[in-house]
Amino acid sequence: MAAFRRGCARWQQVRFLGTHHYDLVVIGGGSGGLACSREAAQLGQKVAVLDHVQPSARGTAWGLGGTCVNVGCIPKKLMHQAALLGVAMDDAGKFGWSIPGPVSHDWWVWLRMESAQAHFCCHVPQKVKYFNTRGSLLDRHTVRGLDAKGTEMTLTARNIVIATGGRPRYPTHMFIHAWTEVMFGIFNKVTFALVKSHGQNLSRMEDCGASVYVGLECAGLLAGIGLDASVMVRSVALRGFDQQMAQLVTGHMEARGTRFHWGCVPTSVEKLPSGLLQVKWTEVRSDLERVEREDTFSSVLWAIGRVPETTGLNLPQVGVQLHPDTGKIVVATDERTTVSNVYAIGDVAEGRPELTPTAVKAGKLLARRLAGQSNQLMDYHSVPTTVFTPLEYGCVGLSEESAESRYGKDNIEVYHAFYKPLEFTIAERDASHCYVKVVCDRAGVQRVLGLHFTGPSAGEVIQGFAVSVRCGLTYAQLRDTVGIHPTCAEELTKIHITKRSGLDATVTGC
Ligand code: FAD
Repeated sequence: MAAFRRGCARWQQVRFLGTHHYDLVVIGGGSGGLACSREAAQLGQKVAVLDHVQPSARGTAWGLGGTCVNVGCIPKKLMHQAALLGVAMDDAGKFGWSIPGPVSHDWWVWLRMESAQAHFCCHVPQKVKYFNTRGSLLDRHTVRGLDAKGTEMTLTARNIVIATGGRPRYPTHMFIHAWTEVMFGIFNKVTFALVKSHGQNLSRMEDCGASVYVGLECAGLLAGIGLDASVMVRSVALRGFDQQMAQLVTGHMEARGTRFHWGCVPTSVEKLPSGLLQVKWTEVRSDLERVEREDTFSSVLWAIGRVPETTGLNLPQVGVQLHPDTGKIVVATDERTTVSNVYAIGDVAEGRPELTPTAVKAGKLLARRLAGQSNQLMDYHSVPTTVFTPLEYGCVGLSEESAESRYGKDNIEVYHAFYKPLEFTIAERDASHCYVKVVCDRAGVQRVLGLHFTGPSAGEVIQGFAVSVRCGLTYAQLRDTVGIHPTCAEELTKIHITKRSGLDATVTGC
């Protein structure tokens, strides 16, 4: 420490603010970090949280709250809502509304409202000391904070929680002269801010894996506000999700005009004098046949996954082990890292779902354990989720493929139904991708292993069913449940056709 201080003193612009002691220091003020620090403070712990946003390649930064409120779930869902309203306006005429004149979407109005919402969502928990400072570990009990003005301090703590999340992955497989070329790609918030500013009615998403759900969601919401969106997919869409459901989701998007370039890998992006971006890519048709293609786009959005934000944290030096493949922090079931008083939660932790509610819950439970109030561990099984594509897809539990590989094809029973949401009838909307599927253990009481739904308000539907799946729902219990009529969710309680039977699974009548 003394040697470090002497080093800092030589660096004239660094002002040292002294050392402060806490029960808990949290590095990262996003979903997990804020939830953890709030809970710990409420339980009487002396807590500090350090949060600092490293500007993106385009120089975009944002405030406290992390990915979810600033560049993730919240702006994405609000944009999705904007797109849904567009569909509702299309439907409205058929329900008797007269909408005067052609309607159009104003990007900037939306952006203003969304930004206000993000500020509303996020504040520092009471009784938590907040530092807008970049944190790193000096040793297992000492955190160094350095802010943008060069003010430095050290904080010592009994326990340290790392909740630094992740950042977008940059394309590295393709030829890029310098970072300026990467800037042509648009990332997250920058996307939300800049697509329309290109002023073209053309926006395409370069996605070397719409396997990443965010890629599909972005394409869907851009198409939903009237932009011309294309998606480039290297292999499959929504990797890790049930592939039949993924095909329904992309099939619906294709039917509504989003173009998909399947089996394609981008090779370069160049800015033309016109300001448009020339994208070149390889279409892999087979092991022997590859076709080089190119086209111009007004915007390119990379949605090729995220990398854990561990840079500059000094983790290996203090003994915190990183996963050799993912670079995430290796954690035990109690979120403990390889250093016993240092913990990691949320997107930065290895093997955890990259979702806000899991980061929040893990943070709260950890705070309770650290305060000696509970022994409860976070249960990462049967975490429900929803993909907010134009046709939403919600699920909980195993995909059909995972159930097959875990139990064997003959040992699972898959019930399914194609249904038509009532609201689609008068509106004459295509319902061919609205589908429910329940994957059960075939033996005994037919425990539900996975539940899948495409259709309106999928998140709202699946949230309720997730409780029952966690409680050990069986097929008989599902069938004994009285549905709410007329809803889409009731289709899950009526489901009775098995895939094995080969019978037509289309729901007819009321
Ligand atoms: P974050 O929320 O990312 O917070 C980490 C914070 O730590 C950031 O503020 C970061 O700047 C800061 N930080 C990093 N390094 C340091 C350092 N050295 N010192 C100080 N501060 C530092 N999840 C859902 O559940 N539902 C969704 O619909 C959904 N949609 C998404 C859409 C998009 C476009 C994206 C990108 C993500 C989405 N997610 C969604 C995922 C969700 O946002 C993340 O899982 C969640 O935010 C992770 O929380 P976290 O606390 O781990 O990290």
